[in-house]
Amino acid sequence: MIFRRKFLKTISLSFLTFFLFPYKFLYSATKKIINKNLSKEQKNIMFNEGTERPFTSELLKENREGFYHCANCGAKLFASSAKFDSGTGWPSFSEALPGAFKTKIDYSFGMRRMEYHCANCGAHHGHVFLDGPTASGKRFCNNGLCLIFKPEN
Ligand SMILES: [Zn+2]
Repeated sequence: MIFRRKFLKTISLSFLTFFLFPYKFLYSATKKIINKNLSKEQKNIMFNEGTERPFTSELLKENREGFYHCANCGAKLFASSAKFDSGTGWPSFSEALPGAFKTKIDYSFGMRRMEYHCANCGAHHGHVFLDGPTASGKRFCNNGLCLIFKPEN
């Protein structure tokens, strides 16, 4: 009987832990600001899952060859060969470099979207949709402020 009670206590405690420390908490615990020079807007997007205004990113016009890096930690995320003009007003990519991002389902604003964040530092970058025009079928819709472009050569 005592054993059973102890068992029930353990069970209820783990349930309590589950509700008190949901996934969101675990996720935010892995985020860390590395670049101390991030602007207020960059911090809001990357660590509060904000969104920049469409058609404001300088990177929309960028069409040189090179790589797009995380503005927070510098990790290499996209190759310029994957970039395309989606007409949405945000830099768009058909594929990310392998292992660059981790994803989670985002239910905010009454929508079910696939959020993605830097696998290295946890910073939010954008949402990935399955309506891309290329063979991958993917459309990574990325906030330009989260990216730093480094031309090749
Ligand atoms: Zn990063």
